[in-house]
Amino acid sequence: MKYIGAHISASGGIENAPLNAHKIGATAFAFFTKNQRQWVVPPLSENSVAKFKEHCQTLGYTTKQILPHDSYLINLGSPDKDGLQKSREAFIDEMQRCEILGLDRLNFHPGAHLNQISENECFKKIAESINIALQKTSNVCAVIENTAGQGSNVGYRFEHLAEIIAQVDDKNRVGVCIDTCHAFTGGYELTTKESFDKTFADFDKIVGFKFLRGMHLNDSKKALASRVDRHETLGNGYIGENLFRWIMQDSRFDEMPLILETPDENLWATEIQRLKGFI
Ligand SMILES: [Zn+2]
Ligand SMILES: [Zn+2]
Repeated sequence: MKYIGAHISASGGIENAPLNAHKIGATAFAFFTKNQRQWVVPPLSENSVAKFKEHCQTLGYTTKQILPHDSYLINLGSPDKDGLQKSREAFIDEMQRCEILGLDRLNFHPGAHLNQISENECFKKIAESINIALQKTSNVCAVIENTAGQGSNVGYRFEHLAEIIAQVDDKNRVGVCIDTCHAFTGGYELTTKESFDKTFADFDKIVGFKFLRGMHLNDSKKALASRVDRHETLGNGYIGENLFRWIMQDSRFDEMPLILETPDENLWATEIQRLKGFI
């Protein structure tokens, strides 16, 4: 089964997220469990949690269809002592919020070395951060997203994801999310069937499909290996529509949230319909 949706708004309360997803015909959704621009926010109210669970149940969204995303402020590989501490505390809070909501995975960007430490030292800090958060929770999987490698962000090579996973103690609670725009601008060719097959064969060899817990489906405004993170509506960017057809027809992407983060939210319902049509 393919579960397709978008990163939808939860403004007015997280209980609105499943309602907003349903409105656009989504069978999956992503959302922020808190304001992503603030470090500290009040805990989720019991009422919000109960309504969120009720709406998910009524509308048929199970945990494997939901991919919460953490705050962009968090840098789990920060070279700065205070920045790292603040990030770890915020990340634990995000993992605990997912747990309270009955969700089983949290998507996050691995981190950035800020040109102060090596990539290897950054991987080590990220893995330590994940280990700490997994100790403070029991049911949520930490889902590392590949990046475009913009600025000093790590995670733009499959080897980076594999290296972080290798240093995580509980392999059952670490996973990855592959963003197609990030993969492409990070250097992985995806525009021909041969390159698609090769890229995901490499992914399987280096990371392993067993770790794949979700996908971000985005076209790219920027060229291959440009290391710039600018999403484009499906079919209108450098990647083109074929990639999304191949993903829809490939059972390795079944049973996980497939999430649009494309720039025009008015087009999401149409894009979801188009993706469903490729299956
Ligand atoms: Zn993404
Ligand atoms: Zn992005």
